[in-house]
Amino acid sequence: MLTKVMDASSTEAIALASRLFKQGELVGFPTETVYGLGANALDRDAVLSIFAAKGRPADNPLIVHIWHRDQLEGLCDIPEGAEPLMKAFWPGPLTLLFPRTERIPDEVTAGLPTVAIRMPSMPCTRVLLRECGLPIAAPSANRSGRPSPTTAAHVLEDMNGRIPLILDGGECQVGLESTVLDLTHGQPVVLRPGGITKEMLEGVLGREVALAGSILRPLKPDEKALSPGMRYRHYAPKGSVTLVEGPEEAVLREMRSRCREDREQGKRSCVLCFTEHLEALSDCDPHDIGSAADQRQVAHRLFDILRKLDQEGMETIYSEVLPPEGVGLAVMNRLGRAAAFRTLRVQ
Ligand code: AMP
Ligand code: MG
Repeated sequence: MLTKVMDASSTEAIALASRLFKQGELVGFPTETVYGLGANALDRDAVLSIFAAKGRPADNPLIVHIWHRDQLEGLCDIPEGAEPLMKAFWPGPLTLLFPRTERIPDEVTAGLPTVAIRMPSMPCTRVLLRECGLPIAAPSANRSGRPSPTTAAHVLEDMNGRIPLILDGGECQVGLESTVLDLTHGQPVVLRPGGITKEMLEGVLGREVALAGSILRPLKPDEKALSPGMRYRHYAPKGSVTLVEGPEEAVLREMRSRCREDREQGKRSCVLCFTEHLEALSDCDPHDIGSAADQRQVAHRLFDILRKLDQEGMETIYSEVLPPEGVGLAVMNRLGRAAAFRTLRVQ
């Protein structure tokens, strides 16, 4: 199959994407979080073809994307607490779980009684969702296990020949997947941290929001994943990533010496560091993850850098860490998983 790449702001591209959705085909499209691989959420076969194109396990549910509140009608019930959050953060990078009706095929939710729904804010995404008039089920447009795509080139890298169309909307603004919040069990729980932070959610709800236990550590062997996606190896480059944590000077010293040792053994080694430390680490092939003072910049760059590590054939990678607060929590969830939570704590 030939994969076409078209400018997401062109009318012809939107018309073609919309036609493909109606025919049960897949389209890669941009959102403010990451690129999605979409299909008509009400068409069981189309949804199944998402899993095939990604190589995604069938027990990992998808997020349904809408552009208008009216589309919730008939798809789900609205749990307590959802209204103020939708008002505050939709459209935007917040996915909410809703008790679902039978109109949503089991394949979308992996048989769960809830459906995850989000209203993207990127203008061209909203035009696409409005034009096709369908709820669109879409996971991230990467092959399963790879970092989520944040440019159309990343989508092409993973999906070339597997889907008919990719809409190119440039770099995704947030660069990390949406926050997933479960309100269906009383106490609100963040299942996956993202651009809408725990602190922002608490500000609107006026109550404490819990974090799923496995956000900053691996799942225990007998632990049930609240969010099925957390079970899988994710975001991991082929090389081994190690996080280095501690006082600034000690971290820089440790990264330099580890990188040097690995090179002496003939390994390709590099560091992921803040812009402020590029010079101090100049002999360690530093990859600039953004300013330590700008967590959103680090979020925006992270997946592109993780993909580059594979292209460069890096075997060992040492990375600085952010405090796990605000957007830093989402960054550390993804980076932690890329490192299988391997951490060096230095003094
Ligand atoms: P992706 O779109 O690839 O970022 O994946 C969507 C993620 O949302 C999945 O990995 C799930 O963990 C989560 N998710 C989707 N639907 C549900 C649901 N009904 N219950 C819990 N988590 C969900
Ligand atoms: Mg994904």
